[in-house]
Amino acid sequence: MTTAHQDISRVTSAKLFEKAKKFFPGGVNSPVRAFKSVYGTPLFIERGDQAYVWDADGNKFIDFCCSWGPLILGHNNGAIREAVAAQLDKGLSFGAPTRLENELAELILSNNSYIEKIRFVSSGTEAVMSAIRLARGYTKRDKIVKFEGCYHGHSDSLLVKAGSGLVTFGETSSAGVPQSFAEETIVIALDDKKAVEEVFLRFPNQIAAVIIEGIPANNGLLLQDKAYMAFLRTMTEKHGSLLIFDEVITGFRVGFQGAAHHYGIKPDIITYGKIIGGGMPVGAYGASKEIMAHISPDGGVYQAGTLSGNPIAMVAGIATLSQLASPGFYEKQEQTTKAFVQTLKSYIADKHYDVQIFTVGSIFWFAFTTQQRISRADQIDPQSMEKYKVMHRALLNQGVYFGPSGYEVGFISSAHTNEDLETTIQAIKQALDIVFQ
Ligand SMILES: *Cc1c(COP(=O)(O)O)cnc(C)c1O
Repeated sequence: MTTAHQDISRVTSAKLFEKAKKFFPGGVNSPVRAFKSVYGTPLFIERGDQAYVWDADGNKFIDFCCSWGPLILGHNNGAIREAVAAQLDKGLSFGAPTRLENELAELILSNNSYIEKIRFVSSGTEAVMSAIRLARGYTKRDKIVKFEGCYHGHSDSLLVKAGSGLVTFGETSSAGVPQSFAEETIVIALDDKKAVEEVFLRFPNQIAAVIIEGIPANNGLLLQDKAYMAFLRTMTEKHGSLLIFDEVITGFRVGFQGAAHHYGIKPDIITYGKIIGGGMPVGAYGASKEIMAHISPDGGVYQAGTLSGNPIAMVAGIATLSQLASPGFYEKQEQTTKAFVQTLKSYIADKHYDVQIFTVGSIFWFAFTTQQRISRADQIDPQSMEKYKVMHRALLNQGVYFGPSGYEVGFISSAHTNEDLETTIQAIKQALDIVFQ
């Protein structure tokens, strides 16, 4: 039995990582996987089943990263596996329409009162990038407004951070993005109505869209008031701009109809990713028939994809979403998560530890702070991440896998059993005791 203090063996993972460094920048194909914000080398995963993953050294973990969100049904879900296996016999890709695209679209649209038409793409980044183009093409305006602390994938327009001053042009947050692109993106703080008012005053008739994560969950969990989200709806409508909800995380996570339904607010365009493909690469964007009529070949906004609507990915999506559409699924997920968080909160209160747990649906986030409310990126103290590192290591040592950064949220899947969660609670208690010892 491992203990919180004793490091697990990562010998094989370390060897694989050394080899990977010869092939890939930083040894990875997506930066946060490199474990730069936590201790040790990244774990190379061999397989997953239900709530568990096993690494190359044979360590078993209860997984709360869940492939960064897609695996709401856990690993190796039987129905998804069977659907994918059956489709494999028929071919991997045709570059022509299939009935499977209709099936997934119908499943989504007949259970969603916020969009009327949809287009499938292959990633969240692609979905958001296309949604931005659509908003620009539809409004014939160029500027977009985004919020500090929201992540929308890695397209050029969105790799932009706030400049100096309350309401100014953004600055690029990645080398390789021209400053002239960044000038079309204005970045403001979340949960600040004044900044929104100023932005519309300062750039009249120039803002194509305001884009926000349905519930910001890529830089901690920055819960927003419904009144603030409704304010964004009112302001965008008033100024002829579109409101885009980036629901790549929240879509099919906080409910089948995502954050839009969570607030009861109808954005103009919604983007999806992660869960929609059940572990396969799928993204999507949707809107009213009127707005979607601007997409090619119906309209002048070009957007295409060789592997879009890929049959294997579609069947994985169908098998996933049809399970999510069953009555009570989300209620149960939320109850389970609430109980898990509540137990930990009681322990934290008893011990007077300076850590908060924020939660919505089956998402949770540990913030090492005394603040009861965190709604903006600048309220997170970067120093607090040192505590997360200690917790992360102590959790891995006890067989619990959290995302390798304190800015990442955790996910509870339907495969996590009460026993898994009880084991995890004990592990977290011990980890917190180490953090605050
Ligand atoms: C993950 C994510 C993206 C990017 O999706 P990829 O599939 O990684 O390209 C965009 N927006 C949000 C809100 C996300 O969480």
